[in-house]
Amino acid sequence: MKKKKDAPSSPLAALPSVDEILKSREGAAWLAAFPRYVVLQAVREVIAGERKQIRDGMQSPNPLSELFSAIEKRIHALASYSLQPVINATGIVLHTNLGRAVLSERALENVIAASKGYSNLEYDLASGKRGKRHVHTGSILRQLIGAEDALIVNNNAAAVFLCLNTIAKDREVIVSRGELVEIGGSFRIPDVMTASGAVLREIGTTNKTHLQDYSAAICEKTGLILKVHQSNYKMIGFTADVPISELVKLGNNHAVPVMYDLGSGNLIDLKPYGIYSEPSVQEVLSTGVDLISFSGDKLLGGPQGGIIVGRKDLVEKIRKNPLARAVRTDKMTIAAFEATFMEYLDPEQAMKRIPVLNMLFQPVESIRERARKLAAGLRRQGAAAAISVVRDVSRAGGGSLPDASFDTFAVAIIPSDITVNDLEKRLRSGPLPVIARIREDALLLDARTIRGNDVQRLTKIVSAALSAA
Ligand SMILES: *Cc1c(COP(=O)(O)O)cnc(C)c1O
Repeated sequence: MKKKKDAPSSPLAALPSVDEILKSREGAAWLAAFPRYVVLQAVREVIAGERKQIRDGMQSPNPLSELFSAIEKRIHALASYSLQPVINATGIVLHTNLGRAVLSERALENVIAASKGYSNLEYDLASGKRGKRHVHTGSILRQLIGAEDALIVNNNAAAVFLCLNTIAKDREVIVSRGELVEIGGSFRIPDVMTASGAVLREIGTTNKTHLQDYSAAICEKTGLILKVHQSNYKMIGFTADVPISELVKLGNNHAVPVMYDLGSGNLIDLKPYGIYSEPSVQEVLSTGVDLISFSGDKLLGGPQGGIIVGRKDLVEKIRKNPLARAVRTDKMTIAAFEATFMEYLDPEQAMKRIPVLNMLFQPVESIRERARKLAAGLRRQGAAAAISVVRDVSRAGGGSLPDASFDTFAVAIIPSDITVNDLEKRLRSGPLPVIARIREDALLLDARTIRGNDVQRLTKIVSAALSAA
């Protein structure tokens, strides 16, 4: 940067102009690498800040070199994405705040294939005429689940809303008081019911609802019997609810459709993996229930979406609801779903290749192995901390498998030079943020959700964060 000829008398006058900075060597390099808008914005912000500080009586103005590095930092901040990858070291596989399900390789490849160019999204290649977007996932879903018909919408909240609005608008929907749940955010069954135009007919008590409660509530205004998965909440003790198979019988006797909002919805029987509380979608469907809805990005391990399966006439009616268009899925979602469903044709492969299933049901020994590797790497780097591998439990998250706990191994770090809270904050604020948990005076990195190929960079990130400076 060239100096001005006559030495300026005031620090304010000594400040370089925006134009001078842009014309400097650094400025030219920034302009070559970043959009002009971003560079200009960063320069203006930093200069304005400096000017204000000088006016406010700053004793010694910052040297030019510091101004330049401040500008560079600001450019990087302005040019970086807000939505960015993080390393999930919480052990919670379906972490709602961290994007829930991680997609499989095949799903990712298919998203790219379907969206980097044109596709037959709504074009029937056989006839050369206009086609329908739902055909791409319809037949494989029917095949996998054995459902008469299937429809995918934007998410399960939309699926429930659309079903209620189509089938039970201005009619009563019978729901147990024990199932009037809030799933998180603003999804509360009573509110969704109201918004859909259906009339909530709550029955039973918080802890106990009997078949008799359902049958006593059925009348000419009844439009639907709805069972709702309690998701992330669990009642224990003196409780009773009515199994879906009983509700189906009751519904059949009174010609009232029965729907089950299954929440998570797994396509693989999880009993061999120690999960007895969650029947598969296929098992639930075999009770004869008219409609089931579940999420695409919970246990299924696919993209965000709400899957509706069941009776053909009902699904067809739901598809024709004008609101279905408002909650339809886009091509990237459809591509990710089709590839994800394809994985399920071979359940054994699906357990390996769908990251959600793989992370949940991996052998605990391989988790321990990754934890050991990470711990050893940290020690080798001379990390300033006490480091150990500890047993712990992780949870599925996302309201899935609420009563299942998964044995896991974590790396416990007790920093020597900084506080554990500082360490947590540093890890979360880096260019590749690491999200971890604090337990007592240690930071825990749960190896369940740390991917094998992340161990090396995680080692570097953590040991850098541990150094005092
Ligand atoms: C998660 C969940 C929903 C909402 O599903 P999204 O796909 O997140 O919209 C609805 N009902 C139940 C029972 C759930 O567990």
